[in-house]
Amino acid sequence: MKFCQGPKCHQYKTKDRIKGIKGSKTYQTRRRSSFYYGDDNFCSMNCYNDWANKFVDQAIDHFGRTTTAKHLTEQNAWFKDYTWNGNNDTVYIYRNGITNEQRSLTEEQFRDNNYTLNTGE
Ligand SMILES: [Zn+2]
Repeated sequence: MKFCQGPKCHQYKTKDRIKGIKGSKTYQTRRRSSFYYGDDNFCSMNCYNDWANKFVDQAIDHFGRTTTAKHLTEQNAWFKDYTWNGNNDTVYIYRNGITNEQRSLTEEQFRDNNYTLNTGE
């Protein structure tokens, strides 16, 4: 079990957040085995947004703020795609978003999140 990371989760007054014994009940941060939002860290979009509004500047400064334009070039424009052949089989392809060149991919390469032809960001 883990807690929702929303900084104001306990301030949303819902029945399921009321915990404790009679006479000393409080609204508490939600606790679940899993959450739907923010990569399994938040119980709701509200809590996710509360966290982002409070911490997004610190997070960006920590991981690196974008200060110049990034460029999509031939070297980093490859994206995975799929289509169907005449036999209705799925065909996996790598397509270049700049040159429109296509290269075939195996299903294994298609599903491998680390496999890429891109050589830059
Ligand atoms: Zn929450």
